[in-house]
Amino acid sequence: TFSAYRIDRRDGAQQLELTRLTEADLMEGNVTVAVEYSTLNYKDGLALTGRSPIVRRFPLIPGIDFAGRVVESGDPRFRPGDRVVLNGYGVGEKHSGGYAGRARVPGDWLVALPEGLTSRQAMAIGTAGYTAMLAVLALESHGLEPGAGEVLVTGAAGGVGSIAVALLGRLGHRVTAVTGRPHEADYLRGLGATEILDRAEFTQPPRPLESERWAAAIDVAGGLTLANVLSRMRRASAVAACGLADAMELPTTVAPFILRGVTLYGIDSVMAPHALRERAWSRLARDLDLDRLETMTREVDFAQLPQAAEEILAGRVRGRTVVRIPEA
Ligand code: NAP
Repeated sequence: TFSAYRIDRRDGAQQLELTRLTEADLMEGNVTVAVEYSTLNYKDGLALTGRSPIVRRFPLIPGIDFAGRVVESGDPRFRPGDRVVLNGYGVGEKHSGGYAGRARVPGDWLVALPEGLTSRQAMAIGTAGYTAMLAVLALESHGLEPGAGEVLVTGAAGGVGSIAVALLGRLGHRVTAVTGRPHEADYLRGLGATEILDRAEFTQPPRPLESERWAAAIDVAGGLTLANVLSRMRRASAVAACGLADAMELPTTVAPFILRGVTLYGIDSVMAPHALRERAWSRLARDLDLDRLETMTREVDFAQLPQAAEEILAGRVRGRTVVRIPEA
C-alpha cells in the first residue's frame, strides 16, 4: 500500500481525504511509476479545494504532475529504474495523478527526465516552469533574441512568472516584472528582473493603442492585465498568453493586431505534442539556473497540501511549491 490523496463526490459535493491505496486503485496505463516528488500548481489548488470543477472523474487521485522512477513498464521506451516526468494530459483531472506513492499512466504521456535534473528539481520546475518554457519557445520562434528590448512578465512572483523571469534573465533578455507584491522586488531582481512594475498600472481599461514599449511578453493573467499589455506592445512583437490569474475575459480591440502587427500566441501545456515537451524539458535542463530555481522553491509536507492549496488560491504563494511523496 502507499499514501495517497483521493477526491470523491458525495451528495454532489467534492470531498478530499488522505488515505492508503493499492495499485489496484490506479487507473489504466502501461507504465507504473514510484512517485518521488509532486508539486502544487494553481490548478492543483483549484482541484484540491473544489473551487473549480477541475476533477471530472471520481474517485480520483489529484496532482497534475509528478516525477519519479519507473517500477514496471509495458512500453519499450521505458525500463524499471528510468527517471520520468509527467505534465498534463488530464492527469489530476480525469486520470489519477501525482499525489500518491504510485502512478500508472500510458507511456506516451511520459518524458524521460533530462540528465542533470533531480526529481525534486523537475517538480520545482513542474507544470508552471514547463509552461514558462513553452512560452519562451513561442517567443523565440517568433524571432525574439536577446537585445531586442524589454520583455514583460506578468504575475512575476507566481510560479509560471518566477520561472519565466529566471529563464529570460539567464538567456540575456532585459526583463520587466509585473507584480501585485512590490515587497517581492528584491526576490524578482535576484531571479533576473531588471525592472519592477506595479500590477495597479494594468487594471484600468487601456486605449486601443498606448505608446509602444515591450519587445515581447509572457502573460499569466488574461483580463484587463493582458488588454493593457497588448495595447503597449511594439510593432511586430509577440505575446504568449498562458493563464487567467486576473480573468478569463479579454476586453481588448483588434487595434494591436491590425495596426501594429502584434501576434498573440496561446500556450497549452496540457495537450502539447510530445516532441515539443521533450524540447522544453531539455531547454529547461540547459537554460534554467538551478541555484535560482532553489531560491524560488519551498517544500511542504504531504499532509500540508490542503492548507497550501488555500494559500496558492489566495495569491500568497511565492514562486514554486514542491511536495515529497512518502515512500510508503
Ligand atoms: P500562481 O503561482 O498562483 O501565480 C499566479 C500569479 O498571478 C500570482 O502569484 C500573482 O503574481 C498574479 N496574479 C494573481 N491575481 C492576479 C490578478 N487579479 N491580476 C493580475 N495578476 C494576478 O499560479 P501559476 O501556477 O503560476 O499559474 C499562473 C496561471 O497560469 C494560472 O491562471 C494557471 O491556471 C495558468 N497556467 C496555464 C497553463 C497552460 O497550459 N496554459 C499551465 C500552467 C499554468 P504577483 O503576486 O507577482 O502579482
